Amino acid sequence: MASLTIDNLVKSFGSVDVLKGINLEIEDGGFLVLVGPSGCGKSTLLNCIAGLEKITSGEIRIGDRNVEGLHPSKRDIAMVFQSYALYPNMTVRGNISFGMEIRGIDKVERDKAIQEVADMLQIGNLLDRKPSQLSGGQRQRVAMGRALVRHPQVFLFDEPLSNLDAKLRVDMRTEIKRLHNRMATTIVYVTHDQIEALTLATKIAVLEAGYLQQFGTPDEIYNDPANMFVADFMGSPS
Ligand code: ADP
Ligand code: MG
Repeated sequence: MASLTIDNLVKSFGSVDVLKGINLEIEDGGFLVLVGPSGCGKSTLLNCIAGLEKITSGEIRIGDRNVEGLHPSKRDIAMVFQSYALYPNMTVRGNISFGMEIRGIDKVERDKAIQEVADMLQIGNLLDRKPSQLSGGQRQRVAMGRALVRHPQVFLFDEPLSNLDAKLRVDMRTEIKRLHNRMATTIVYVTHDQIEALTLATKIAVLEAGYLQQFGTPDEIYNDPANMFVADFMGSPS
């Protein structure tokens, strides 16, 4: 795991500035939630951290490494998206194993890693099934397992629960929290759900239209909002 620092990050698409100078820092083992309305730049920020988008100016550091120019695969990160994109013709075991096979990890090591994440995510009984034989929550667990076996320093989640029904969303929230405590990994988690943000985060960044409106603990954000936008969006008591 590692800390993550974002200094004066600007990202433009053509002449449109989508991120307008973002400053953030999350400590080693912290849980940073990026929250804000649809279109405010959350996914773009995550994609910049992952290296899927090239930044326009500013700096991103993972631990003490400036990741400028580093290919996504060299950044020690793993990303879980809203759509799980599991390989439909492979079993759960195959889906989790595949990335390790590509990296040339031998079968003994792979089986050990698969067992470890299967225990952690309680999917040991699903390893021989195909994705079509799984529920939404189970698929999301498999997607997390596939990311976990990479042992990333930083884990990125982009609205991973937004396709699940309300009840399952609450269960998975608990699951992710447990996983974070157990793995002591650094997490950056995107959501537009205020309650999810307040219950999961050690630090929350509230974005609006490419600006960082407030960065603080859940207590600060909820009880001491920096401005009307944050108070309104987070439903702070007045
Ligand atoms: P969020 O994840 O908060 O809903 P996004 O980061 O997806 O927001 O998008 C932020 C803004 O950037 C939106 O206005 C979106 O239309 C724009 N945007 C995102 N990706 C691109 C792109 N590849 N080209 C042009 N504009 C984009
Ligand atoms: Mg998004």
